[in-house]
Amino acid sequence: MVNLYHKHVLIITDIEGSSLCRNYEMSSFMTTTWPEACVGMSLDVDAVCKALFLAGVETITIKDFHRTGYNLFPELIDNRARVIHGYCAGPVPGIGDPKPATAVLMIGMHAPSGSNGFLAHTLTSRIASLTVNGVLMSEAELFSASLAPFGISPLFFSGCPIACQSAQQKITGLHCFPIEKVSNGKPFPAESWRQVLAKEAVKAVTTQVGTPFEPIGPFKAVIEMRDGPKTADKLARRWGHSFDGAFIFLNQDSIHDLYYELMRLCYLTPLIEKFLTPALALFNLRGKYGLWWARRQYYRNLKNNLNSV
Ligand SMILES: [Zn+2]
Repeated sequence: MVNLYHKHVLIITDIEGSSLCRNYEMSSFMTTTWPEACVGMSLDVDAVCKALFLAGVETITIKDFHRTGYNLFPELIDNRARVIHGYCAGPVPGIGDPKPATAVLMIGMHAPSGSNGFLAHTLTSRIASLTVNGVLMSEAELFSASLAPFGISPLFFSGCPIACQSAQQKITGLHCFPIEKVSNGKPFPAESWRQVLAKEAVKAVTTQVGTPFEPIGPFKAVIEMRDGPKTADKLARRWGHSFDGAFIFLNQDSIHDLYYELMRLCYLTPLIEKFLTPALALFNLRGKYGLWWARRQYYRNLKNNLNSV
């Protein structure tokens, strides 16, 4: 009988570090190759869910955290798990209410902006680099910290080797499993990799209690905008931050305030912030349409391919 430290698990999932996403186009909304990456992401999540349920986990909530938040094909995922598509304003930004989870597993993730990882970015690819107190900051840190007030511990992370290295350096005790998609020109063995991913995820919830991740400030953030000084000037003035050339500077005492200011810079305008609930509803509607389109494309191609053999 194995120990099971967490019966209620939240999975945050992204596409860049998932098994079939081979390039930027495959991660991009409504491109012809995006549906295949969505399928890989869904099958990775499904393998992890099945293994966790078998190990005794009772509830699994899956948060799709890529672009529109609508990439997972629900029919490919174990129906005992609950999938959250789209975004909510709170209480946890993007996620909503994370209860009853006590642990978070992050899969399909990518490395931070400013690193050499596969499709590296933090929140948006418009940020060329984000350093906080002199070190690159990743989404793993921001997501984990946003869950800390709910007593949720980050236990597991999967992404490219640089993404794993960066997450592990910051989050003590995080169990990481890398995905190395370039393998001497041979196709990536997605199915066998996925099975090991699932085993490693089970290892994380059966060997660790973990602790919530909530770093203590002050936080001095330096954000370099990829589009240069003009964009930095516009965004910094919009939200009242100091700037110099392509760099915007933030000083925050709490990690939660830092995350909020970063989200404002990346995703909001004062008008959208004022009408956040209807703006999110519209954004989610676009995502819903995209997912409908992706599924239709995928199954249509599958049928055509089957008919031609
Ligand atoms: Zn993504």
